[in-house]
Amino acid sequence: MNILVSGGAGYIGSHTCVALMGAGHSVIIADNLSNSKADTIGKIMGIADKEVTFYEIDVTDTEAVDIIFKNHKIDGVIHFAGLKAVGESVEKPQDYYYNNLVSTLVLAKACQKYGVNRFVFSSSATVYGDNKVPFVESMDLLPTTNPYGETKAMSERILTDIAKANPYFSVSILRYFNPVGAHESGLIGESPNGIPNNLMPYVTQVAKGKLEKLKVFGNDYPTVDGTGVRDYIHVVDLAESHVAALDNLKAGVHIYNLGTGKGTSVLELVKAFEEANDIEIPYEIVERRPGDIASCYADASKAKRELGWTAKRDMIAMCRDAWRFENGQGE
Ligand code: NAD
Ligand code: UDP
Repeated sequence: MNILVSGGAGYIGSHTCVALMGAGHSVIIADNLSNSKADTIGKIMGIADKEVTFYEIDVTDTEAVDIIFKNHKIDGVIHFAGLKAVGESVEKPQDYYYNNLVSTLVLAKACQKYGVNRFVFSSSATVYGDNKVPFVESMDLLPTTNPYGETKAMSERILTDIAKANPYFSVSILRYFNPVGAHESGLIGESPNGIPNNLMPYVTQVAKGKLEKLKVFGNDYPTVDGTGVRDYIHVVDLAESHVAALDNLKAGVHIYNLGTGKGTSVLELVKAFEEANDIEIPYEIVERRPGDIASCYADASKAKRELGWTAKRDMIAMCRDAWRFENGQGE
């Protein structure tokens, strides 16, 4: 199939393009490079040993998106493009609501216009809010604490209503837990601008000596060792889930948690990183980070049951591959 991948130059999108081409699909990437680099496109082609078509466009731009649908027979859309920094979304709510909602509307509208009925959307475990773990797809969603989370919950509702109005529209809503790691080639991975907000890139930068020590945000949560628990998932496992989601699309809206189903605390991740890479990670305990919840992990059984997909790579692989990528990044 010809798959339009919005945000395909980004962290999860680039790995997914590789997985799609590995499964025999052709890929057309639309990305405005607001949080990625043009050379990632060449790296994707190098790993997959296949050509991709790249449009440097903003997917909130109806006319630019229309040109892609005119130029190619698109069979399905995977919509990754979006702004994703939780803290920044509190500072710049308009930017987040505009970019993340209008992009979804423009792509869904183009699908309607050109009769494309396959749509896969990147949502997030953040839509569950501070629910009881493990999070199950059927749970009532609790309010999120930031505009970013709201854009995900709203996009889910928008796509659900569009699917209600069009019985042929097949939407897969994928709620990602915490993607980490990198492609084993070390060529593509996550390279956040500035000081990382997320745990794994912060740890790799401490390992590299770019940052002095990890600040662990609180050790008084009701968890195994008091530090926050998350469900880390290898980005290549996550990428592969998109192929399974496309293969198993059916009419209506279907929501899937994509995680391993296992919670890992901050200190457990640090220990795994030290073991995997034989590097010490200095850390200090500091105040809790505002807005953080104690625990977040998936009940991942629905994706296994309906998509035949489960995460295969363990925490050691996640830490090893994250470090390999950081090491290849230069200064
Ligand atoms: P990323 O920032 O690496 O990738 C997003 C890509 O979209 C970037 O290449 C960026 O340049 C592009 N983009 C943004 N706005 C655009 C626009 N209007 N038009 C065209 N391109 C645009 O982020 P990621 O980690 O790969 O995340 C992909 C998706 O998954 C996002 O929707 C994100 O919210 C969601 N998600 C990510 C995580 C995570 O922890 N990484 C967790 C849950 C959900
Ligand atoms: N965390 C931390 N120090 C950091 C970054 C994160 O202790 O520099 C903790 C954070 O409090 C949470 C976990 O690591 O318990 C994962 O945080 P991340 O930002 O990666 O993911 P999210 O909280 O968005 O799920």
